[in-house]
Amino acid sequence: MLDRHNRNITYLRLSVTDRCSLRCRYCMPADGIPKRDHRDVCSAEELVEIARAAVDCGVRKVRLTGGEPLVRRGILEICRGIAAIPGVEELCLTTNGAALARLAKPLREAGVSRLNISLDTLRPERYAYMTRVGRLEDVFRGLEAAEEAGFTGTKLNVVLMKGFNDDEIPDFLDLSCRYSVEVRFIELMPIGEGRNAQFLPAEAVLDACPCLQPLEGSGVARRYRSPGGRGTVGLIEPMSHRFCASCDRIRVTADGKLKPCLHSRQEISLRGLSGEALRLAIEAGIAAKPERHYMNETGRSEAGRRMNQIGG
Ligand code: SAM
Ligand code: SF4
Repeated sequence: MLDRHNRNITYLRLSVTDRCSLRCRYCMPADGIPKRDHRDVCSAEELVEIARAAVDCGVRKVRLTGGEPLVRRGILEICRGIAAIPGVEELCLTTNGAALARLAKPLREAGVSRLNISLDTLRPERYAYMTRVGRLEDVFRGLEAAEEAGFTGTKLNVVLMKGFNDDEIPDFLDLSCRYSVEVRFIELMPIGEGRNAQFLPAEAVLDACPCLQPLEGSGVARRYRSPGGRGTVGLIEPMSHRFCASCDRIRVTADGKLKPCLHSRQEISLRGLSGEALRLAIEAGIAAKPERHYMNETGRSEAGRRMNQIGG
């Protein structure tokens, strides 16, 4: 379905929980978040129904996110339910990778087509520091399990932070040469805890490696390849290059609020709706998509929620 700015909305990012197994400093508070009553979060059936109604409105790609989707009870049931909806061409999932060694194969069998794995540093001590509780080796075991399970087109999400991982850009590029993955450098957004970390423009990647060869872009990413590399490199630049004009997505939070734009406070409640009423509410959300965000001018997001409550 086209929105009022002539953008075709085909992509739903569906958050299945705001809870997480890690506490990344730019995303979650140190002591986590207050535990919600499970009735405050959409049930597996509600999530599948929302996805089905979104497909009726023209969505073709669904990404499960969180919080950490792999800590959600019934995640495999949710994946199976959404993968089985006629019209879902891609079911993707974004994960911190911590539980992937155990879950990669079941996820594949449940119909997940592609994975994004978040990995902001390749150094074990830094990883432990940034995630507060995580172990780097778990992510690499997860990455290997994903390959063994038959996942292809895996992306590694690296949030760039000045003074934290800018000295690792060459190491990440090296990783993109050795593995058949896309290493995606993402600019830090000034949302929630993200306001406490140091922004670094994605252009720094090109400065660090002028030999990167441009490829055709894909979605919101500028793409490159290192000479002779197996994988590719992507730059996601929500701050320095506005990609609002080609935005094709809507988001739904784990408590069932449709966010037409990540950086807008506007939310439409989908809970308690079904059938035609649910479809009309999603259509209203698509119609309400603002033309653009104003983070470049204001230096802050108007999201009104932390990233773990939206899903990135
Ligand atoms: N827990 C999963 C993970 O980490 O992949 C999924 C949810 S997480 C909120 C989704 C993505 O958002 C991750 O790649 C994470 O690094 C990114 N993210 C979180 N806070 C961010 C921020 N302030 N700016 C840019 N990206 C952010
Ligand atoms: Fe959890 Fe992902 Fe946020 Fe890290 S970025 S705290 S893994 S939700």
